[in-house]
Amino acid sequence: MNCQFPTVLRPLIGRNYLWRKNSSEKVVYLTFDDGPVPEVTPQVLSVLDDFNIKATFFCVGDNVNKYPELYREILLKGHSVGNHTFHHLNGFKVEHEQYLNDVEQASQLIDSRLFRPPYGKLTRREKKILEQKFQIVLWDVISYDYDRNLSPSQVLENVKHNSRNGSVILFHDSVKAKNNMLSVLPDAINFLLAKGFRFERL
Ligand SMILES: [Zn+2]
Repeated sequence: MNCQFPTVLRPLIGRNYLWRKNSSEKVVYLTFDDGPVPEVTPQVLSVLDDFNIKATFFCVGDNVNKYPELYREILLKGHSVGNHTFHHLNGFKVEHEQYLNDVEQASQLIDSRLFRPPYGKLTRREKKILEQKFQIVLWDVISYDYDRNLSPSQVLENVKHNSRNGSVILFHDSVKAKNNMLSVLPDAINFLLAKGFRFERL
């Protein structure tokens, strides 16, 4: 599903993407994609509350439409939100116009200047248009929480091993990722706090 682009390719596929904040400070950015869903998102919010941490949720418009009160709760708790299309489309697999319309449809519900393309896939043409309206956010640390072949400890290791100053860390508040994500999130946060990082929203 999601893939992490090798570092060496990054300059070729979008200088204007935000992969990581260029930071000399010990700050990291937790991000949660694909929610909000009642099976997972409330539990994420509760963990973040326990640590008094703010994060960023890249919401699927269709889920915001189904669960508006959950979406409002994310905002009420002071987290940031971003647009993750309405139908979780793959930018390589649908027509340009359909893709842009889908992003626009999500924009009707999600008031944000942040956009993250599902699967990290966006054609050059889509990017060129969307970057006029949005800061396009990818990630530099992927937890692979959605990968059911990975154990929670492997997911935790991905986060521990790759996080550094300014990292944008990708988790999912999705049913698919739930088990891995919820079992590692508190440990990942504790590890990063012990390393002296603080958490900010995008
Ligand atoms: Zn996604």
